[in-house]
Amino acid sequence: MRILVVEDDALVADAIRRGLESAGHAVDRVDCAEHARTALAAENFDLAIIDIGLPCSNGLSLLRSLRQDGLAVPVLILTARDGLADRVNALDLGADDYMVKPFAMPELVARCRALIRRSRSAASALLTIGALALDLGAHRVEVDGSVVELTRREWAVLECLALNVGRVVAKPKLLQAIVNWDAEIGANAIEVYVSRLRSKLGASVPIRTVRGIGYRLDDGSH
Ligand code: CA
Repeated sequence: MRILVVEDDALVADAIRRGLESAGHAVDRVDCAEHARTALAAENFDLAIIDIGLPCSNGLSLLRSLRQDGLAVPVLILTARDGLADRVNALDLGADDYMVKPFAMPELVARCRALIRRSRSAASALLTIGALALDLGAHRVEVDGSVVELTRREWAVLECLALNVGRVVAKPKLLQAIVNWDAEIGANAIEVYVSRLRSKLGASVPIRTVRGIGYRLDDGSH
């Protein structure tokens, strides 16, 4: 999944980036509210992590303006330990969750996962689609009960298809699930990952090509 981190403190931002990337997410970071607005208007993110303490305009004003613009992206706010009023304000302004600094990275990663899952109305971290079983928390994939090892990007493509099962996922959306702005990645990368997924997962996990648009994972029931 693709996550935007809005934090001016480079050390904190780098720690968050590393934690989320090792959990398989593509992470981009901006250091002020204005750049965050630009990034969120230009690209699709699955989640934004916004620090309240930002230069110029603070994270709560940013959140308010995003919601006023009708942007529904899940938002997790980072607040200071003594920021009770900030936390209440953040939730009232449309934040989906908050974390108090300093926080433990595994908890941040788990909360991000829960927010993304909730925003897609998947109630549990376990997804079963025909012969395919996905544990979204553990990044574990089984086909017909046998574990299949996937790379980080193969996982990201499969997760995106699985969360949209039965619907066509356009190639640019799949690309966004695996890249961030730093990543050098060719235009045919998605074809490559889908072809590797097909050979690893086998015919009982039908990933259909929808010519000129993208791919669709069928649930096998039709
Ligand atoms: Ca900050």
